[in-house]
Amino acid sequence: QIVFHGVTKKFGENVVLDDLSFGVRAGERVTLIGPSGSGKTTILRMLMTLTEPDSGTITVDGNHLFHEVRNGTLVPAGEQHLRAVRRKITMVFQQYNLFPNMRVLRNITEAPVHVLGLSKDEAEARARELLEMVGLSDKLDAYPAHLSGGQQQRVAIARALAIRPEVLLLDEVTSALDPELAAEVLDVLRDVARTTEVTMLCVTHAMKFARDISDRVLMFNEGRIIESALPAELFDSPQQERTQRFLHSLR
Ligand code: ATP
Repeated sequence: QIVFHGVTKKFGENVVLDDLSFGVRAGERVTLIGPSGSGKTTILRMLMTLTEPDSGTITVDGNHLFHEVRNGTLVPAGEQHLRAVRRKITMVFQQYNLFPNMRVLRNITEAPVHVLGLSKDEAEARARELLEMVGLSDKLDAYPAHLSGGQQQRVAIARALAIRPEVLLLDEVTSALDPELAAEVLDVLRDVARTTEVTMLCVTHAMKFARDISDRVLMFNEGRIIESALPAELFDSPQQERTQRFLHSLR
């Protein structure tokens, strides 16, 4: 469903993605691990068309996310086409990014109403279900600033799921949280993985979580995938010395 082919990205002299090719099947849960700066976030941002590759192709269900203009530069595909992609793919960021001026319920109903064209009633019914799933039914009238970081992140997850995405991108969603709050968020995501079919691409340092939910783990180093394996294989018997060293540094 998602295919990166020969994707290269440089920021100045810094080669962030180096001729990268990989695919993710519909419904698959893939975790991206690797040292800081190895290009993991850049991959998620490209899927949101927030960052353009220098070369290579990225397709979602066969549709190209970028196309080439005259001088060979890649730019996001046309607006109509991107709208279709935005209905399929959503991202949860490290810093929640909730709309601060909107109550929790409205944060969640905004995209279904404006992107999917749901009625306000339909969107609210769905938002209430999602708030129950993330354990925040009692907070629907609160403003984000009055919630803990963990609660805000759970609202952000509910908001992302509100458009019934096919693909959920998670970028270090617990790294700004205390361990206890992080655990609550990871429990919610375990539920999401268990109860939905959504494809998940997850950048995380929470290795136990990665082991629990992933079908496959990709180890990145210097813009390349240096190891790709089942979680049990990769965590228990990493083949590459670089992977061993990285996993050791997290203990
Ligand atoms: P981290 O875990 O630190 O987020 P990462 O593997 O997700 O690491 P990326 O965020 O993809 O890495 O960044 C890869 C490299 O690209 C880093 O060296 C980063 O400084 C650089 N980079 C990212 N965005 C930009 C930008 N807009 N301008 C210049 N350099 C950038």
